[in-house]
Amino acid sequence: MVNNCIDGRLHAQEVKEQLKVLLQNTSRQVGLATVLVGEDPASASYVRSKRKACAEVGIQSFHHHLPADVGQADLETLIDQLVSDSAVHGILVQLPLPAHLDSERVLARISPNKDVDGFHPINLGLLANRNARPAAVPCTPAGCLELLLKAGTPIAGAEAVVIGRSAIVGMPMALLLNRHDATVTILHSKSKNFELHLKRADIVVAAIGKPEWVKGTMLKPGCTVIDVGINRVDGKLVGDVEFASAQRVAGAITPVPGGVGPMTIAMLLRNVVNLAQL
Ligand code: NAP
Repeated sequence: MVNNCIDGRLHAQEVKEQLKVLLQNTSRQVGLATVLVGEDPASASYVRSKRKACAEVGIQSFHHHLPADVGQADLETLIDQLVSDSAVHGILVQLPLPAHLDSERVLARISPNKDVDGFHPINLGLLANRNARPAAVPCTPAGCLELLLKAGTPIAGAEAVVIGRSAIVGMPMALLLNRHDATVTILHSKSKNFELHLKRADIVVAAIGKPEWVKGTMLKPGCTVIDVGINRVDGKLVGDVEFASAQRVAGAITPVPGGVGPMTIAMLLRNVVNLAQL
């Protein structure tokens, strides 16, 4: 079988190498502040990986770990301090926050120019305007786009189907594909006729959070499949796409793990560097 697997680890490593060289050639110190609230092991592990990646390319990271019962006002005070700290070029608040905290208010408190995740309402709004430029684009959709470009998938004029419409993945992904002139359909839990939409899609981005939900039989032969899903089944990581059946039909496909995940971190690093240059 032809190897139609899009290697996210390889492409992420290339981005990191480029950033490392860029940073070695500048006298400027670039810094990312990470904010973790509570003791959720998955969130702690994500933050550790992001800080490790920062260190690999030469970005300084400043970590703030707050107790799970921190109040909204105290968290916002920390954000205000980080916004006015000139050593901090990007602020990352690890989501999800504990239920008593208002995430939207916290994200809106970050200045758009330090919004490394691209979740600030101003940056998300600018993403919807093809003539405007957000300070940062959400890292996972940016990584998916980068993988489509690396795979050589034509985007302009392509039929793209994004499954999932979350504010952090599905919706910004659809906006990004629209900026690149794809004809975009967004599917969600109330959508009907999935197979009809999927069968005509040249590009499928699956961001549902349901293990192996998309099967090869649903896809158009030769399409490019970007699998965002991260699901743990019997101790093993699987995506939202049934990889074996989809790989037989697709022209190119990302694996899980080793696809979108590494690219997400690479895009985070690129966002920090871009924000520092702003
Ligand atoms: P989310 O907030 O739970 O959103 C899931 C979306 O899927 C919603 O829009 C939902 O529709 C839709 N959906 C759920 N069930 C569906 C169904 N049966 N048919 C069609 N649509 C359905 O999840 P998320 O944060 O976007 O994350 C999605 C997946 O990506 C998760 O597995 C997550 O772990 C993974 N992820 C990976 C990375 C990475 O770096 N690789 C980063 C972020 C997330 P409604 O809007 O109608 O509810």
